[in-house]
Amino acid sequence: MTVLDGPDQLHVSKQSPDHRTAVRCGDVEIGGDEFLVIAGPCAIESLEQALQAARAAEEGGAKLFRASLFKPRTSPYSFQGIGAEGIPILEAIRSETDLLLETEVMSLAHLDLLHDHVDMLRIGTRCMRNYELLKEVGKSRKPVLLKRGMSATLEEFLLAAEYVLVNGNENVVLCERGIRTFDTYARNTLDILAVPALKELTHLPVIVDPSHSAGRSSLVAPASKAALAVGADGILIEVHPNPAAALSDGDQALAPPAFLTLMSELRDLATVTGRVF
Ligand code: PEP
Ligand code: MN
Repeated sequence: MTVLDGPDQLHVSKQSPDHRTAVRCGDVEIGGDEFLVIAGPCAIESLEQALQAARAAEEGGAKLFRASLFKPRTSPYSFQGIGAEGIPILEAIRSETDLLLETEVMSLAHLDLLHDHVDMLRIGTRCMRNYELLKEVGKSRKPVLLKRGMSATLEEFLLAAEYVLVNGNENVVLCERGIRTFDTYARNTLDILAVPALKELTHLPVIVDPSHSAGRSSLVAPASKAALAVGADGILIEVHPNPAAALSDGDQALAPPAFLTLMSELRDLATVTGRVF
């Protein structure tokens, strides 16, 4: 560490050892007492798929829905998301459920298009270093879920968050989603110690994405439990009504029954560890 250990206080820095910020999103608080679950498919594919996923998310106790219309894909030939034509689906989820909506923005055009239709903006791992985008979400007051760049140090991650805060938006939630290492069994290596380490360094809430770190549905439950046990403020998790038919990331998606089982196990673990869920 250099900047973060230095004498200069950053906006992301703690002012005192017990300094914590809870980010308010609608009627939900992230970083308060409650363990927060953001659940939904990798991408919205259709009205029916989104509604089925949203109903499962709500039944399991999620407060926010992953409502991704634009997908950053490694290959330009892979499904890129349904784009703007999914906006009526966002409105349908709003009217059919009590879920708040969280979506990924990869560009200033996405930000303009989606800003007023969602409750939380996600900056994905690939865009953590898109500093112009960080400045623009900083000018918004909408809560921002900032994912760690796949090769970003904690200092680089926190300085990316600083871009948002210094531009006026204090409503930032950090998300550890796994980093690139030499191992390829899991999709990424979940840096579970990033959670307590970030909590030493910053007052911002920290959540974990067990799905993109695991890359395999069998590893999602243990990663989620580890997140709760290590003190994360929540998880961002992929749920699909039929993972085998998913247009993206089906291997890591939980079907509703597995998701509901995990939510009940997390509830038990929360009780044992003195957390609220
Ligand atoms: C996502 O959460 O939809 C996503 C693409 O994850 P990441 O940016 O962490 O790869
Ligand atoms: Mn995905």
